[in-house]
This record gives sequence, structure tokens and C-alpha cells, in this order.
Amino acid sequence: MKIHEYQGKEILRKYGVTVPRGIPAFTVDEAVKAAETLGGPVWVVKAQIHAGGRGKGGGVKVAKSMEQVREYADAILGMQLITHQTSAEGQKVRRLLIEEGADIKKELYVAFVTDRVSQKVVAMASSEGGMDIEEVAAHTPEKIHKLVVEPSTGLTDAQADELSTKIGVPAELLEQARVNLKGLYQAFWDTDCSLAEINPMVLTGDGKVIALDAKINFDPNALFRHPDIVALRDLDEEDPAEIEASKFDLAYIQLDGNIGCLVNGAGLAMATMDTIKLYNGEPANFLDVGGGATTEKVTEAFKIMLKNPKVEAILVNIFGGIMRCDVIAEGVITAAKAVGLKVPLVVRMKGTNEELGKKLLADSGLPIIAADTMAQAAEKVVAAAAAAK
Ligand code: ADP
Ligand code: MG
Repeated sequence: MKIHEYQGKEILRKYGVTVPRGIPAFTVDEAVKAAETLGGPVWVVKAQIHAGGRGKGGGVKVAKSMEQVREYADAILGMQLITHQTSAEGQKVRRLLIEEGADIKKELYVAFVTDRVSQKVVAMASSEGGMDIEEVAAHTPEKIHKLVVEPSTGLTDAQADELSTKIGVPAELLEQARVNLKGLYQAFWDTDCSLAEINPMVLTGDGKVIALDAKINFDPNALFRHPDIVALRDLDEEDPAEIEASKFDLAYIQLDGNIGCLVNGAGLAMATMDTIKLYNGEPANFLDVGGGATTEKVTEAFKIMLKNPKVEAILVNIFGGIMRCDVIAEGVITAAKAVGLKVPLVVRMKGTNEELGKKLLADSGLPIIAADTMAQAAEKVVAAAAAAK
């Protein structure tokens, strides 16, 4: 789960990280009022969306007068902000952060991430802050420094200083950088983050070390421990289909292709998408209806898939274990009728009560294309999608 920069900064502030004074705003008047409260001479008007690269996309502007604060707030609020992390259509800006301007001397990058290889938290830091860290990693990987944090000790002073020194923090600022790094690590640890990133952490003209941006992602599996963080969720920033799916306990992720997939079990869903790709098709979604797929769940799953206008054919791939094939078949029939299915539907089912399930589908009167193996199913659905064009 992601949160906005201003929310991330609030959390970091509690952990002792130095962040600029700032006030969120939802309207232009609120933005002006926020700037008045903060006092001048320089304010930064920042679009709040769950994506980075806002600066380059025109979502971060430095204002030197109250008129400029109003002008920029007016321009940014409501805009479709396009960055390398948004979709091509961009993301609508509904919130702003009005912040005091910092006198930047140097921009640095610091972050903590969960590293699956070492199964520990890894610190990453670079002297190349402010820009896209993926670019730095691709072109000048030697400028990214990493170290593993031992869970029993947490980030030590020595580690913090070592990293800071490597990225060019001068000796007289090491103590400030240490407080920021340790605060960032502790915030990561306590709130079960998967990523906590400050890009840029800046050195200022008046000798301060400040976090100018904050990007925090939380591990969704740990959210049950953090109701205060769940409360920060902004549904405007999430995919409506994925929100709808989560209400029915369906694991759904929208993709770019044209073949809808409805599968039980995450592993089988992945294998199904791979097989579709093998036959030169493109999945429109990942969808795991889970073990206890009821007729209601399958119906909702169909509805969600079909809301995606790109879907030109659907593949249902079911392994009947505890979930019997006949129950799934009934679910598919009911759902297909309920949604008035217009796109070709390929069904492959294996396992408990397979024959009964297949018979139900065949007798349903629906134009269902039956398949026996996964390869056959993928081949048939790719062909059906092509024919539907
Ligand atoms: P993003 O990463 O989405 O582009 P940032 O918050 O990192 O957004 O802002 C982009 C750039 O804008 C920063 O790298 C920094 O140069 C500048 N900036 C951001 N906040 C401030 C601030 N409070 N004062 C001065 N400059 C800022
Ligand atoms: Mg940034």
C-alpha cells in the first residue's frame, strides 16, 4: 500500500527525520492559506499523487510570491499529471502539499528496501539524488552503495556514517544525516514497510540535512497491525477494478493485454498467463478467485474482468480440488448469463467432478469453447481473441 508524500513526511517527522514545514491543501484557497501560515519568502507547490517523477512532469513548482502560489496551485490541482511512473493518461491531482522552500546545495538518495536475496533490510544510498534512481542503477551502478542491516542491531551509527560518507556528506553534517538515516530505518521497521525512500535528501546552504521527498510503501500482509496506516489509504489513487476485487476477496491485477483470465490459485494463474504468452497472447489481468470460489465470487470476477474494455476473450482455467468442477461450472454459467457475456469464453477444468462440470457447461446452451489441456486452452483463447477483432 502506498501513501502520499505529505503523509510519509508526517510519519518520518515522528521518527526524528528533518522534513520541511508543510501543509496539505485540497483547494486553491487552502493552498494560499497554507502558504500564509508557513510564511515566505519561498514556497513549493507539490502535486500529491502516488507516483514519483512529479517534478519532471510539472507537478512541483517553486513560488516566490503569494500570486505565484495561487497560480501554481490553480494549474496543478485537477491536472492529469503524467510521469514515468503513471499510466499514459496520467493521474488526476486532487491534493497539494504547500511546503517551505529549501536552499539546496546537494541532492542525495537514501532508501531502505526489503531484500529477498539476503532476507534482510538493505540500505541503498547514492550521491545522485533528485533524479530517477533506476537511471542511476542502469548507467552508473557504481554510484549506488548498499549495506545489509542486521535485524538484531538495526542500523548502527557506524553504518549510517559509512553510507553518508560514501555519498558525500561532509564530516560536520554526519550527525544530522545519522539522525535522518536511523529515523528512516526505524520508521521502515516499525511500520512494516517494503520501501522507505528519501529522494532527495538535501544538504542546504545553511548547513542542514533535510528530507525533501518521502516515498513509503507498506507490506499489505502486515496492514492488519497498523489501522492508523490503513486510514491513510487514498482510494482515488488505486485502480477501481482492484478496489472492487478486494471487496470480494479476489486477487485481481489489471494488465495491458486482451485475454481475461479467471483461475483458482495464484500459481495456476501465473502458469496460465505464461501459457497465454507462449501462444503469443497477452493477458488482460491476473485473477485468482481463491480456494472457496462461490457462484457469487465467480460472477463478480466476470463483472470486474468485463469492465475492462480491452478484454476480447476469456479463459477460465480451474483445478478442481476441494473446489469441485461442477460448482465452478455452475458459477461460470450463472455468471455468464448474469453479465450477458458477449466475448468468446474458453473453459478448461481438471480434477474433482470434472466430467459433471463439463457436462453442465455443454448443456448450458452458452457458446463455451471447451479445452482439455492448458496448451490447448491457451491456443484456443488466443485464436478466439484474434477472430473477435
Ligand atoms: P518527485 O520525486 O516526484 O519529482 P520531489 O519531491 O522529489 O518529487 O521534487 C522534485 C524536485 O523538486 C526535488 O528533487 C527538488 O529539487 C525540488 N524540491 C522539492 N521539494 C522542495 C522544497 N521544499 N524546496 C526546494 N526544492 C524542492
Ligand atoms: Mg523525489
